[in-house]
Amino acid sequence: RMASPALLMRVVASAYTVAEKAATIVRNVMAAGDLGIVDKTGDNDLQTKADRLVQMSICASLAQKFPKVTIIGEEELSTDEVTEELIEDGHCEEILKKTCPAQYAGIKEEELVIWVDPLDGTKEYTEGLLDHVTVLIGIAYEGKAIAGVINQPYYNYEAGADAVLGRTIWGVLGIGAFGFQLTEAPAGKHIVVTTRSHSSTLVNDCISALNPDSVIRVGGAGNKIIQLIEGKASAYVFASPGCKKWDTCAPEAILHAYNKEVKHMNSAGVLATLRNYDYYASRIPNTVKQSLVP
Ligand code: AMP
Ligand code: MG
Ligand code: MG
Repeated sequence: RMASPALLMRVVASAYTVAEKAATIVRNVMAAGDLGIVDKTGDNDLQTKADRLVQMSICASLAQKFPKVTIIGEEELSTDEVTEELIEDGHCEEILKKTCPAQYAGIKEEELVIWVDPLDGTKEYTEGLLDHVTVLIGIAYEGKAIAGVINQPYYNYEAGADAVLGRTIWGVLGIGAFGFQLTEAPAGKHIVVTTRSHSSTLVNDCISALNPDSVIRVGGAGNKIIQLIEGKASAYVFASPGCKKWDTCAPEAILHAYNKEVKHMNSAGVLATLRNYDYYASRIPNTVKQSLVP
């Protein structure tokens, strides 16, 4: 009999299935038609019934299995009425079969932090830009994103009735990232991906200073990392403190799982690339950096 799998692998395997349940909730709320929109700050910072139900589902499901892990979700929920039907107990067998990298094999529950963005791209969800939406579960250890799950509930939604709807991308540093086809952006082209609904003068000035060949504006931090790993864009640039740890933890882990040369995303805005990080970093104006103290 094999020794029981390492905690990290059990957490990722559970997060995978919990994220699939989350995707079902996201689709069901939209199909039912009552989104229950609340504007949290008046700054295009929306919350829907799906954000609320999914956060309850993810946090309660993971807390039940891993009671000592710190779980931080985006939404501040006034009630803790988690009904039994929101609990997901399953896990992904394929992930459990992978060997945990030696440096993570001894991690204990108390040492993990799980960052949950129940629905990333809420503004776009309310506008029907459904493939911008992702569910993000990021796993951090010693302050570093080491594993993550990104579910895209409406992947393929415009591809016709025969296409399989939705997908789950996951990754662990030292193992790799799975659930998509890694594609490089066109060589020699500087294609920047950024926000479509949270722009500011600083955000736009910073992009102009990079003199990109083109700019793609789409919603969601998870969605923008998908643009990078699928070769649609070469850098994600967002000179704003608006993007939180629950937005970047899972995406950062999935980027790093591919290429350890990829440098960090941080609280002083987001700069993420699959390749050529230094090209973009060296062109960010000092005025932008001074405006975004970490
Ligand atoms: P976006 O690229 O605009 O979709 O933003 C990526 C993530 O950061 C989303 O979860 C947004 O809700 C969040 N975000 C970005 N800017 C802000 C802001 N000014 N206020 C609140 N959330 C923001
Ligand atoms: Mg978000
Ligand atoms: Mg969110």
